[in-house]
Amino acid sequence: MSSKYLRDSSYIDGKWFNSKSNRYFDVLNPATGTILSRVNDIEPTDVELAIQAAERAFPSWSKMTSKERASIMRRFYELIIENADELAAILTQEQGKPLSEAKTEIIYGASFIEWFSEEGKRLYGDIIPSPIANSKIIVEKSPVGVCAFITPWNFPSAMITRKIGAAMAAGCTCVVKPAHETPLSALALAALAEEAGVPKGVLNIVTGTDSHNIGRVLCDSEIVRKVSFTGSTDVGKILYRQCAATVKKISLELGGNAPFIVFPDADLDAAVSGAIICKYRNAGQTCVCANRFYIHEDVYDKFASKLADKVRKLKVGDGLDKGVDIGPLITPDALEKVRSHINDALGQGAKLIEGGDTHDLGGSYFKPTILGNAMEGMLIAKEETFGPVAPLFKFKDIDDVLRQANNTQFGLAAYFYAKDLALINKVYNGLEYGMVAVNTPILSTEVAPFGGVKESGIGREGSKYGLDDFIELKYVLLGGLE
Ligand code: ADP
Repeated sequence: MSSKYLRDSSYIDGKWFNSKSNRYFDVLNPATGTILSRVNDIEPTDVELAIQAAERAFPSWSKMTSKERASIMRRFYELIIENADELAAILTQEQGKPLSEAKTEIIYGASFIEWFSEEGKRLYGDIIPSPIANSKIIVEKSPVGVCAFITPWNFPSAMITRKIGAAMAAGCTCVVKPAHETPLSALALAALAEEAGVPKGVLNIVTGTDSHNIGRVLCDSEIVRKVSFTGSTDVGKILYRQCAATVKKISLELGGNAPFIVFPDADLDAAVSGAIICKYRNAGQTCVCANRFYIHEDVYDKFASKLADKVRKLKVGDGLDKGVDIGPLITPDALEKVRSHINDALGQGAKLIEGGDTHDLGGSYFKPTILGNAMEGMLIAKEETFGPVAPLFKFKDIDDVLRQANNTQFGLAAYFYAKDLALINKVYNGLEYGMVAVNTPILSTEVAPFGGVKESGIGREGSKYGLDDFIELKYVLLGGLE
């Protein structure tokens, strides 16, 4: 692979940094199993250097006017957009998603840098009428300080920009630990940030395989004032506990188990097209993708057959090839999880409608799958499958489908299709989720608050609310006034 934005070491204090250990780890192309690059494996103790660099950069970055920060961030955004094709090619090769999806991710990711560069200018405080004579109450917003970010492999670019956009705009400095499966997109972002004039130490990227100990260093540090994580609920809980010792602020964007409900009055063709996007995008490896399809009994057979017609036409292959809809899963382990969920469901009476097994291409390619007759007790109803499997549950009653949809410890995204306004109102009020999409399959945008309730997380990313996670309120009581 060649690109002027390919790098193979960490980025600390404005320099490309190799750990003395001189150990490297392989970055594989999941489509072919070939080695794309060998990236320097940082020693957890070296992560301290990145934290210190961020601490040194904080005073000048936070004191810069928001307009100055905005113009640097604007340049960063423009450079990402100018190089979107090149960045998309890197992303597809290390992650596996089709090139068109990779490009969509790059543009979506860049939108957070653009949005927050603008929002940073609007971090207004308050002057509150004081109940105390001769005084004034002032509330100011200030950046929390050095922030650490731990990000996953399923959106190697956008999960970083969504966090650092808000942090940098608020005046914070950053240490990012990307997933070791997909470090190249993260390093490419650092190269672009450097070109855009982001001062040294404001954005540091540490690449390594010892995630547990790197995470420990970030959580134990007294300099780091905030940790923001996107990934599995299990790891999120570990980080939450680890942050207790230093009472850090924490944002968590964890697992989901999204329901996708189709009511009898829905536009069925729109629901089927929506299901394809919502389920099979990124081979089902997104935290907001539909995991459980609840279809009203009056339209169940029709929905199932229309969905099967479309799924049969989906082309599986290397994301770089033209016309490919579904790439490989990230690793063979991911494929085993998908297979185990399918086998568990079939063992408990589910019916195979489409797919169901590994793809003839081998490796970690899996056939897009539909299961009928799915039931509440199955693994697929309880856990996030993170693969291209659509289990169809038949329902009769609105209250019962709401109960089933909410019967999970997760509460990230939910989708439903219906036309009746009173029904729509009842259903979105009844869904215990941070985000609800009605009659549309994609809800992520930089202008809306992304995040979950229950064990799906803490905090919101994007929108004017996204900045709140990176600011402290300072209350000043000005007394002794005339
Ligand atoms: P996924 O299942 O998507 O790989 P993970 O939660 O395992 O989700 O990984 C998300 C990110 O968390 C990755 O960058 C990974 O390296 C990192 N990670 C995994 N385990 C730990 C840990 N114990 N402490 C800190 N980070 C971790």
